[in-house]
Amino acid sequence: ESVVNRIAAGEVIQRPVSAVKELLENSLDASASSVNLLIKDGGLKLIQVSDDGHGIRFEDLPILCERHTTSKLSAFEDLQRIKSMGFRGEALASMTYVGHVTVTTITKDQLHGYRVSYRDGVMEYEPRPCAAVKGTQIMVENLFYNMTARRKTLQNSSDDYSKIVDLVSRFAIHHTKVSFSCRKHGAVRADVHTVATSSRLDAIKSVYGVSVVRNLIEIEASDDDPSSSVFEMHGYMSNANYAAKKITMVLFINDRLVECSALKRAIEIVYAATLPKASKPFIYISIVLPPENMDVNVHPTKREVSLLNQEVIIEKIQLVVESTLRSSNE
Ligand code: ADP
Ligand code: MG
Repeated sequence: ESVVNRIAAGEVIQRPVSAVKELLENSLDASASSVNLLIKDGGLKLIQVSDDGHGIRFEDLPILCERHTTSKLSAFEDLQRIKSMGFRGEALASMTYVGHVTVTTITKDQLHGYRVSYRDGVMEYEPRPCAAVKGTQIMVENLFYNMTARRKTLQNSSDDYSKIVDLVSRFAIHHTKVSFSCRKHGAVRADVHTVATSSRLDAIKSVYGVSVVRNLIEIEASDDDPSSSVFEMHGYMSNANYAAKKITMVLFINDRLVECSALKRAIEIVYAATLPKASKPFIYISIVLPPENMDVNVHPTKREVSLLNQEVIIEKIQLVVESTLRSSNE
């Protein structure tokens, strides 16, 4: 049974960055206003995420890492589930099958915190009282220690840390009311460091630099016709002066970081046709739509989504991107 669990867990947590994404989403679900990461050896030795969110109640600790245990799956409708980022209660459990998970947490009505470690879905010992400030710290150590082949492949690739930095950067420019930091173990400076701000452009500037911000144009699109599509889109896209080697597309739908390859392709096509010289854009898009119009279960890692009336939404966004490009290039 433990082999089956491990294989399933390896599907949910494919690389260190998949664990980081789940941990970040949990911190945001816990209403954190500050999330700090420490990464050792590309995440294979250590992923540590500390937040100042609402913490985990003592009585929830014993089952925290059991499969399909979630505090977010209420008896309401599907709607409710999809609104909160976690809805499957599988992430933490999975991490305990492929790594060593230690949780330190305190809620606001406790005098001290608790620390407990998990392995294969269960607590290794009774939670121990400990000093804690506010919120939750989760450490995932020795990821894939029991998956030799996976560990070998990942050890040879140096880009896992940069994948993590890239992920935190994306979260940081969307969740501007939350401060983020991401630091490599042993490094003095953080590679991502944002403070809570009310301005999206300030956040983009502190993450991606002034050269990106200088070349951004604000965009908006919407539709409120239930028979075709209902959505609101807001974002920033690069202009004719922005040149990069590859496209950066940061897409949030209902505050979830997702991928929509059809939308990405559609935008690339518009840039290539309108601005061949700047055809690798930087684009940040936030879309809000009725949760029931988004299917988040296309992919086990919850990244690729498909939308109801996707063609209509994509076409509307394409039109806005195209007319913005044309008028900025005149
Ligand atoms: P899900 O997010 O789908 O509910 P997870 O496996 O990611 O499942 O997390 C399990 C549960 O652990 C969550 O439902 C939540 O109650 C709790 N939890 C995990 N991380 C945190 C955190 N940083 N702060 C508060 N609670 C947390
Ligand atoms: Mg979760």
